[in-house]
Amino acid sequence: MCRKWFEDIDVLGISDGSIVIYLQEDVQLNYLEKKCKKQFVEAAQLVTGHLLGVSFVNSRDIVCQNTSVQHFNPSGSVITDDVFGDMLISPDYSFDNFVVGPGNQLAHAAAIAVAKKPAQAYNPLFIHSGVGLGKTHLLQAICQTAMQSNNSMKIYYVSCNGFLTQFLESVQAGKMSDFRHKFRAFDMLIIDDIHDLSNREQTQEEFFHTFNTLFQSGRQVVLSSDAPPSEIPQLEDRLISRFSCGLVAGIDPPGFETRVAIIKKKAALRHIDIPDDVSNYIAARLDQNIRQLEGAITKLQGLSLLDGSHIDLAMAKAAISTGGGLINSPKHLSIQDILDAISAFYDVKLVDLLSKRRNKSITMPRQVGMWLARHHTRFSLEEIGGYFGGRDHTTVMHAIKSVDSKKTTNDQLDQDLVRLQNQLSLDTE
Ligand code: ADP
Ligand code: MG
Repeated sequence: MCRKWFEDIDVLGISDGSIVIYLQEDVQLNYLEKKCKKQFVEAAQLVTGHLLGVSFVNSRDIVCQNTSVQHFNPSGSVITDDVFGDMLISPDYSFDNFVVGPGNQLAHAAAIAVAKKPAQAYNPLFIHSGVGLGKTHLLQAICQTAMQSNNSMKIYYVSCNGFLTQFLESVQAGKMSDFRHKFRAFDMLIIDDIHDLSNREQTQEEFFHTFNTLFQSGRQVVLSSDAPPSEIPQLEDRLISRFSCGLVAGIDPPGFETRVAIIKKKAALRHIDIPDDVSNYIAARLDQNIRQLEGAITKLQGLSLLDGSHIDLAMAKAAISTGGGLINSPKHLSIQDILDAISAFYDVKLVDLLSKRRNKSITMPRQVGMWLARHHTRFSLEEIGGYFGGRDHTTVMHAIKSVDSKKTTNDQLDQDLVRLQNQLSLDTE
């Protein structure tokens, strides 16, 4: 996944039993350290036949031996503390690798404008869409482009959960002034999945002040979310109005042509050859989000590596239509299919699922149904609420969040979800 950055690395030598590899940028160092260390160590040991380690360094580590106060990066900017150390950016998420189509062109154009002219084009920029449609990709592309075009700019990309965690840790450690100092010093603050602020009163309050400080002093804020500002449940009105005061751009699912173009782009990035009839076949069958397309490419890549055969239509047909639960087309799944499956699986009556009844034996299956509808159909929160007995979108959003948080600790629920998705021939992520 780090191809582009592999080209920029330098081997400095061997020190203390480790191959020392030099990288120019903090983000590269961070990415390789977290995602590729194991592969580097294995390769180093394989090639040398010695039990070598690998350590990644940048100029900061080299300068660090002399000074612990200021670190220099090669682009000349001065970083005063460790604030960028936690930023995880993927080199593949660049504008070059982003395919533009009718569904995402506004968001894409706005992202480029913001990256090139921070705080002048749109502020804040708020991008929203369903899962797997390119929000994180665009946000990270803004980050990379802005970093390249302006070395001295202090840019920070973080997930909303990252922001939350840092906030809570600072509160606990009694270090709120450090936290404020950190977040209010950025020239560009990019927060992914801001809908996770939902229900977090205290963090919303803090973020409101962070936002105002940055905004009023002409710094750029970029946010992404799974819903437009006014549809994020339990979000303070004043935040809704702040989030809406710049540009709010939605991304719609890609049409057929865009899906084909994305398959070709991803295949080229991985240096694999996918013939036209195969990309058309995949694009026609997988139309929910782009992660599905990537899943299909990975599957074909795996199959062709297995026996050295070329990727062709027969292979694609076998891979995509196998019931093995690997890749299936949830194309025609309706909410009625989901309701029927839930009703049979949990042995609850359809009328009860749609009723106002709130005993646990019914609310839990109902919530699971909403979760499945959200993940495997293209219906909006409103529409799902409509199908599930005329509930409003906040109820649906709450149901989805509740299932998401419970399934991490509740094995039974997790297994139920896998079984239900298998029954419905869905891809389990
Ligand atoms: P989101 O954050 O909206 O859930 P991501 O940005 O994580 O979605 O995108 C999911 C995957 O799809 C990523 O691998 C991303 O590179 C890819 N992707 C999404 N949109 C595009 C696009 N327009 N062109 C190329 N790849 C895309
Ligand atoms: Mg994302």
